[in-house]
Amino acid sequence: MNHAFDPCRKRILEAKTLTVLTGAGVSAESGIPTFRDRNGVWAQYDPAKVATREAFLKNPKYVWEWYILRMRSFQKAQPNPAHLALARLEKATPKFTLITQNIDNLHRAAGSQNVIELHGNLWRMKCVGCHKKVPIEKIPDRVPPECAACGYMLRPDVVWFGEMLDPKNTAAAEAALDAEVVVVVGTSGEVWPAAGYAQEASQRGAYVIEINVGPTALSGVVDASLFGKAGNVLAKLVP
Ligand code: NAD
Ligand code: ZN
Repeated sequence: MNHAFDPCRKRILEAKTLTVLTGAGVSAESGIPTFRDRNGVWAQYDPAKVATREAFLKNPKYVWEWYILRMRSFQKAQPNPAHLALARLEKATPKFTLITQNIDNLHRAAGSQNVIELHGNLWRMKCVGCHKKVPIEKIPDRVPPECAACGYMLRPDVVWFGEMLDPKNTAAAEAALDAEVVVVVGTSGEVWPAAGYAQEASQRGAYVIEINVGPTALSGVVDASLFGKAGNVLAKLVP
């Protein structure tokens, strides 16, 4: 921990409006590999084969099988001290918004309520034909699953490479950057548009704090960096 810790803690606990942006690093301590780490998911799979609309339309079964593997590994994951601290912080802050790039649902599982899931949710599907959204209660055993309403294929309700984010989500996220304090946790700062949020918040006058195991592409933009594991740092920051 460094000299910035106590002043950051004071700012976070006293902020009336607080926005937190999380990335894959917040779930690392729950056993979910991050995006770009050496044993991260994309080191083992070619994203072009599993995480694009073209790949899905060409071979829906293959893409679904990959997502089912991810569901099986996510299923065992539990919220860690970082998710739990953020849920406590929401209760203690008058206006709190959590923006996440994660699709693992662990923030909601920890009790966070005002959550913007920029990249969707692995535990939800949507129909390629009629766009109806369907929560996943049980991992599908026949893939691709079919839409009960129109009979067309269902796909995972996550954002793939080359796809637009839901404009309702980006509008809500951008509005939440008008906060006194913005905390960015476990994000490499290399995936857009979230990568631009720290700078945008800073330009609008927020005090921006990053929490990460080491320096990132955002370190030069933020007001303070707290280096350490998200679970350790957040558990100490939030009573
Ligand atoms: P990223 O993988 O690019 O970066 C992860 C960051 O977390 C890195 O900067 C790393 O240093 C940091 N980190 C690793 N362990 C940490 C820990 N214990 N505490 C604090 N920081 C830690 O992730 P990103 O910036 O979120 O990139 C976003 C993409 O990754 C999104 O598309 C997202 O959907 C996807 N993704 C999500 C999950 C998930 O849902 N849990 C998992 C993998 C990838
Ligand atoms: Zn349908």
